[in-house]
Amino acid sequence: KEKKKIGLTTKIFIALIAGAIVGIALNMFAADVDFVQNVLVNGIFYVVGQGFIRLMQMLVVPLVFCSLICGATAIGDSKTLGKVGVKIIGFYIFTTMMAVAVALGIGLLIKPGMGLDMSQIQTAEVAASSDSVSFAETLLNIIPKNPIGALANGEMLQVIVFALIVGVILAKLQDKTQLVTNFFQQGNDIMMEMTMMVMGLAPIGVFCLIAKTFAGLGFSAMVPMFKYMGAVLLALFIQCCGVYQILLALLTRLNPLRFLKKFAPVMGFAFSTATSNATIPMNIDTLEEKIGVNRRISSFTIPLGATINMDGTSIMQGVAVVFVAQAFGIQLTPADYLTVIATATLASIGTAGVPSVGLVTLAMVFDSVGLPVAGIGLIMGIDRILDMARTAVNITGDAVCTTIVAHQDGALNKSVFNKN
Ligand code: ASP
Repeated sequence: KEKKKIGLTTKIFIALIAGAIVGIALNMFAADVDFVQNVLVNGIFYVVGQGFIRLMQMLVVPLVFCSLICGATAIGDSKTLGKVGVKIIGFYIFTTMMAVAVALGIGLLIKPGMGLDMSQIQTAEVAASSDSVSFAETLLNIIPKNPIGALANGEMLQVIVFALIVGVILAKLQDKTQLVTNFFQQGNDIMMEMTMMVMGLAPIGVFCLIAKTFAGLGFSAMVPMFKYMGAVLLALFIQCCGVYQILLALLTRLNPLRFLKKFAPVMGFAFSTATSNATIPMNIDTLEEKIGVNRRISSFTIPLGATINMDGTSIMQGVAVVFVAQAFGIQLTPADYLTVIATATLASIGTAGVPSVGLVTLAMVFDSVGLPVAGIGLIMGIDRILDMARTAVNITGDAVCTTIVAHQDGALNKSVFNKN
């Protein structure tokens, strides 16, 4: 009988669990063994894990650029593109607002900061961040002064804008620019093939990343923070398995459980790397191969979402506001909560999806309702694990909104979704 091959999904899942077990074991039993720390944790695990993230990052700019140009060329006119853009941004803003609302609700229900023994918590120094950019600047920053510079620096929003314009023009000029259209088409094929190759390494990369992270986690620092962590995780769970799935079922009639099952490896990858940006190639690929979303939509909406749609991050920020207000005994008014919803939504726009960025923009949210920025020091020490979990939710939000918009735009192939 032919042996059944284990699929990539299963392999990634096994790697995730095995990595967590190995990491926790090393943390408990070998934290002081120099050899294990130097050679294994900070040597092999670090190099292989980071090497894998770099490989994924290597794909991002050329893949997004080529596939976005092809996508925009296929869509053709700027009016249709504008329609897709307005729709997806609407969904992104709506889901982010829902996310903050869920977070505030859970925070007020669980009261993570009440009766906290502050002496037990390790606080970290927080440098007051004064580099928050004004909304006007954020808007202006979407237009690249120099497209090559935008590509070189991986400025996602700027790359998106330039690629969309190129794509629309290629569609307009048609035969005159066939050579260039073919060039980007073939560039797209190359990048897709490269994505498949790199993704084949995912189980090894995920194992090393998770083992290294768990080996270095300060589990004892987490104990007094359990309530806060529990509140964030619960809100993330509600958003991911409740809000998204209800939206998906209502608006597309797809089976949400099947969606979650098919999408799980992408979540596992985002969890291991804590960066939405590096997850872009895998997200686009999985949406196409398993969910049935045409690339002409996803190549636009997924990179956009990785930058402007961070529901998981907003959830952490919502709970953190309630937590710190309670810990410092500060009363927030209903108007303050509305301000938090608005600021947390805005904060997620214009910040790149990289590790820990949510903590930086949290300063802006705290500022908006007069909470002490030093409060961030309370949650900094244990943020890594929450960063991983919220990144998984961030990219799921992008995928769900993309699937809905693709469905409405006739770019969703349901037979791919229903195939095993
Ligand atoms: N790590 C998150 C992401 O890449 C951002 C954050 O919340 O820090 O989506």
